[in-house]
Amino acid sequence: MSEDLKTLKDHYELAIIGCGPAGMAAALNAKIRKRDFILLGTEFCSPKLSKAPRIDNWLGFPQISGEELRQRFLEHLKEMEIKIVPFKVTNIYPGPPYTLLGKDESFEADAVVLATGVSVDKLFPGETELLGRGVGYCATCDGPLYKNKQVAFISYSQEGEDEANFMVDICAKVYYIPYYSDVLRLHPRIEVKKGKVKEIIGDSSVKQIVLEGEQIPVDGVFILRETLPAEQLVSGLEMEEGAIKVNHKLETSLPGLFAAGDCSGPPYQLFKAAGEGGTAALQAVKYLDNLK
Ligand SMILES: Cc1cc2nc3c(=O)[nH]c(=O)nc-3n(C[C@H](O)[C@H](O)[C@H](O)COP(=O)(O)OP(=O)(O)OC[C@H]3O[C@@H](n4cnc5c(N)ncnc54)[C@H](O)[C@@H]3O)c2cc1C
Repeated sequence: MSEDLKTLKDHYELAIIGCGPAGMAAALNAKIRKRDFILLGTEFCSPKLSKAPRIDNWLGFPQISGEELRQRFLEHLKEMEIKIVPFKVTNIYPGPPYTLLGKDESFEADAVVLATGVSVDKLFPGETELLGRGVGYCATCDGPLYKNKQVAFISYSQEGEDEANFMVDICAKVYYIPYYSDVLRLHPRIEVKKGKVKEIIGDSSVKQIVLEGEQIPVDGVFILRETLPAEQLVSGLEMEEGAIKVNHKLETSLPGLFAAGDCSGPPYQLFKAAGEGGTAALQAVKYLDNLK
């Protein structure tokens, strides 16, 4: 467990999930308002921003690269003594207070700003139907359920390798289907499959994963994407055209839960993400004040 996780408290006023421009702008404003908050993200914040080769529409910085802007954002947080805690949230139970779950840890927050970005990866056929019946997003959370069983991992990043390695001593067999090139640190007992996934099949539980050219009998399928589908992160969250439904105050359908940035819909642009992040934080502060 990292030092940052060791210092996690059981309860915060505000949790900000996602460390892209929206989450960072939310954190900056929560800090200025002196709130008790936590900023949660993945190891690299944010892959999308760093991939932008040249940004022409960020006021005051003509032709800046995404990576340079990312560095400036991170420096700004450092100057303000804001830490990004590496913690991937895999489930949020509605509140308030909301309960946030991730690998080995859980804690509560009275208000939440979701700033998780948007996933460009399509859901697999069978994924939604079998979610919670063999399909999951966190092996270290559900691992013991698969003792002596066969599981498959579909992973879009090396993060999946640690999760799969964790399952080697628990499961009878672990398959690994990477959707990226450099598989680096996988346990030798894990079987890597190169075919693309066509479907996950099951009825009351997962039975098979179908790849191009083969079908593998499995009891569980773990899918590791950079960003989880929002409606699966928080059950009961109202969506509209694939995005989290928000009003002009960035309130979602759940009280005390706000959404900002790409996850609340187009335009998928930095100025919208940062603007909404700041606004969502200020609205969350108002909400917290009214709770008292
Ligand atoms: C190639 C490219 C070029 C672009 N060029 C431009 C441009 O010129 N101008 C412009 O305005 N915009 C541009 N964009 C778009 C811009 O980068 C995005 O709109 C912006 O990054 C969205 O910010 P965000 O904070 O909403 O999401 P993201 O930047 O996607 O950040 C979300 C973060 O949340 C983290 N996260 C997700 N789920 C969880 C979870 N469950 N727990 C913890 N952390 C989580 C992710 O790891 C990620 O770091 C470009 C994008 C790309 C890919």
